[in-house]
Amino acid sequence: MPELPEVEVTRLSFADRIKDAQIVSVRMRKPLRWPLGCAEDMLQGRWVRSVRRRGKYLLLDLDDGLLLLHLGMSGSLAFSDMPGLPGVHDHFDMVTTRGTLRLHDPRRFGAVVFAAEEASPVAQKLLGHLGVEPLTDAFGLPAFHAGLRARSAPVKQVLLAGDLVVGVGNIYASEALFLAGIRPTTRASRIGLERAGRLHRAIQDVLRRAVQQGGSTLRDFSNAQGQSGYFQLEAMVYGRENQPCRTCGTPIQSIRQGQRATYFCSRCQRS
Ligand SMILES: [Zn+2]
Repeated sequence: MPELPEVEVTRLSFADRIKDAQIVSVRMRKPLRWPLGCAEDMLQGRWVRSVRRRGKYLLLDLDDGLLLLHLGMSGSLAFSDMPGLPGVHDHFDMVTTRGTLRLHDPRRFGAVVFAAEEASPVAQKLLGHLGVEPLTDAFGLPAFHAGLRARSAPVKQVLLAGDLVVGVGNIYASEALFLAGIRPTTRASRIGLERAGRLHRAIQDVLRRAVQQGGSTLRDFSNAQGQSGYFQLEAMVYGRENQPCRTCGTPIQSIRQGQRATYFCSRCQRS
């Protein structure tokens, strides 16, 4: 599943090129997770002003309105001059004067939704509950620590919930907790300021590194130039069950937390 770094890498790969392009046509071939929310023709002639990211949504600001894009479970975006004929899983094309933005999404959990403005209900329904962006100055330690103190759920679940800090998915939550030396099952409310500080730093480190390396390698992920086969983020714990911890050699353990696999080192992450 594309996580925040993959979405950010996708954004970086086409944001500059699509800026100030005019929309020639829009075509939704098969229904995605949610309807487009406007007639395809209505977008014709509008201009793309910028591409922002909020959580795992890409926001294409138009001269009038905006498009919210989500990659769902298996989506990838390609922006190219010569897109070729659409394949069976290419469900959305936006042809512009600078190239064609195409959403490839075998499982169709992705979405492209039009909103008249960011404050409108259709956009707020998707964006309104999102927590603070972890790679911005808005992600401050005091508020993060207070948020942990207020939640009694296991810390990993709190990270995944996305209302305290957004975009820390399963892989990055496991990795950040390892770097901070915190057991994923520890109740968030029991994490003191010093450990919260380590976790705060670890979340930013792991996400920044993933963005720099082009996102972790995911089966269905490719960036908007259609490239796949990204550098694999060298995981410390994620996906390494029974393999020796890179720090202490103890076999990495795997448990289930809320239907998701969690990986940790019982020695490096004692509590
Ligand atoms: Zn270890």
